[in-house]
Amino acid sequence: MAELNLLLFGPPGAGKGTQADRLQADFSLPFISTGDMLRANVKDGTELGQQAKQYMDAGDLVPDELIVAMAAERLREQDARDGFILDGFPRNLEQAKALDEQLSELRRHVTAALLIDVSDDEVVRRISGRRVCVKAGHNYHVEFDPPKREGVCDQDGSRLVQRDDDKDEVVRKRLEVYHEQTEPLVEYYDEQGVMRRIDGTRSPADVHDHIRAVIATLRLEEDV
Ligand code: AMP
Repeated sequence: MAELNLLLFGPPGAGKGTQADRLQADFSLPFISTGDMLRANVKDGTELGQQAKQYMDAGDLVPDELIVAMAAERLREQDARDGFILDGFPRNLEQAKALDEQLSELRRHVTAALLIDVSDDEVVRRISGRRVCVKAGHNYHVEFDPPKREGVCDQDGSRLVQRDDDKDEVVRKRLEVYHEQTEPLVEYYDEQGVMRRIDGTRSPADVHDHIRAVIATLRLEEDV
């Protein structure tokens, strides 16, 4: 089977995490989120975490030199040999070029860049209700995906909180950064012929079906 090297794009709150969970189950690929990796470093108080925290709290991008090495190392791990689902990386043109270099060293390339598209207003509406569990980062939404008991994670019983960077003013800053720095990557991957757009305003099940159809088509094209 051909390897499946997938990138998930879209503004914060587009539903990338939800779709990544489903795709991970469909294709048994590791889900690699640079945001999750950074948050784990912050929580563990590593040097990287200490350096990254100020940028994350402000909704800014963490400097490329910190991120690129972390992502490159992760992609070389054994479980990513047959493919991966990358969420949150690359976030700007420099990172995209660095990723291409890393992959070409391994004689690999991006199979598809999936853009899950939603408007800024929808992003703000979705994120303000988002909650995560303090233990493992399981995601909920007070309106669309509430836990069985308010404020408590269904999966591990830990407390649910709002991420610092999900607060309103930080979300607006993250959107600004997304439009300025990450959106230009749509053109970059369009030129490589791997960009695929998905309407992220539809239900999670519909978005999932659409992504699966896109991947099935890509596989057929590769087999031809
Ligand atoms: P996320 O969970 O992907 O929205 O990431 C949360 C925060 O982590 C972002 O707002 C950035 O501060 C930082 N971050 C995550 N991935 C990257 C990246 N590829 N480049 C720079 N900063 C990142």
